[in-house]
Amino acid sequence: MQHTDVNTLGEFGLIEHLTKEFLITQPSTLKGVGDDAAVIDNDGFCTVVSTDMLVEGIHFDLAYSPLKHLGYKAVTVNLSDIYAMNAFPKQITVSIAISNKYSVEALDELYAGIRAACDAYGVDLVGGDTTSSPKGMVISVTAIGQCEKDRLVYRNGARVGDLICITGDLGAAYLGLQLLEREKSIWLEHPDVQPNLEDQKYIIGRHLKPEARRDMIETFRKQDLKPTSMIDISDGLASEIFHICKQSGTGALIEESGVPIHPDTQLMALQFKLDPITCALNGGEDYELLFTIDPKDVDKVRFLPDIYIAGEILNAADGVKLNTKGGNLHTLKAQGWRHF
Ligand code: ADP
Ligand code: MG
Repeated sequence: MQHTDVNTLGEFGLIEHLTKEFLITQPSTLKGVGDDAAVIDNDGFCTVVSTDMLVEGIHFDLAYSPLKHLGYKAVTVNLSDIYAMNAFPKQITVSIAISNKYSVEALDELYAGIRAACDAYGVDLVGGDTTSSPKGMVISVTAIGQCEKDRLVYRNGARVGDLICITGDLGAAYLGLQLLEREKSIWLEHPDVQPNLEDQKYIIGRHLKPEARRDMIETFRKQDLKPTSMIDISDGLASEIFHICKQSGTGALIEESGVPIHPDTQLMALQFKLDPITCALNGGEDYELLFTIDPKDVDKVRFLPDIYIAGEILNAADGVKLNTKGGNLHTLKAQGWRHF
């Protein structure tokens, strides 16, 4: 057998490679691989399903992630994918593989976090699986949601002239992680020095305990707004706008001045000698929403808090571009290569 390194394909290339021979045979499968969640049609009222896995040492480090936060995050990152379909999550299943270094008390902490997320978002834990692992922990959460068929929003619905919108602010979770990693390495060398993270609660909170934007999906309903396309921002703005453009067959122009970045993120980026817009474009784990709207709906979002208009959908031939604050046009590159 040949041995092809998975790195030659990249994450998205690998998924495409592994799944391309699977044809959809069930009329009820409205959407299979390729969006934030799969969609199953039950006579017009759809079930939306998404699953994500967190692996110790890759996605989390227990040196600075409290188990309770980890449990909370494992749930919210999955709910985020359901909201990104304009749907509402109703149930989750949780599967864990654990090594014998974990005590019952430690797992109680993890589940206290899972329970807190279930309470906060109104979802039921309805099952899962528990098994042992030779080393470390793996958590896999599946979220199941609901949506009327005509309200579902996919990645492929953006049209030329649509406005590009972003919720919340970007880049903070990435810098929170950089800070925690830096403090960890200092602490490993000088165990007597206690890190002071009090002043950086915002960015650290964004990394350790992200929230999913249920409030935005509720707002869309109240405003009777249906975005033309939507994705959650888990891998950075650049990667997500590429997914929308690829699936919609379009290009895009992002205005740097329209990309929301929190002041604490700006300051920490300076400390790390990083450009804040680079953190917003290529960082990750913000779990905000990136969506497009028909320009005739602009008044429905213009005055809403926490929604920012950051650009416009262009023809595919125009590519995906960033207009910097200095007035330079940069061609963005597809990112989203992580974890292998
Ligand atoms: P997200 O970042 O929104 O969680 P991913 O990039 O993980 O999405 O996945 C993209 C799409 O590929 C999704 O539809 C997902 O269900 C599908 N997918 C990912 N890994 C696999 C796999 N190993 N087998 C089948 N489908 C997969
Ligand atoms: Mg997603």
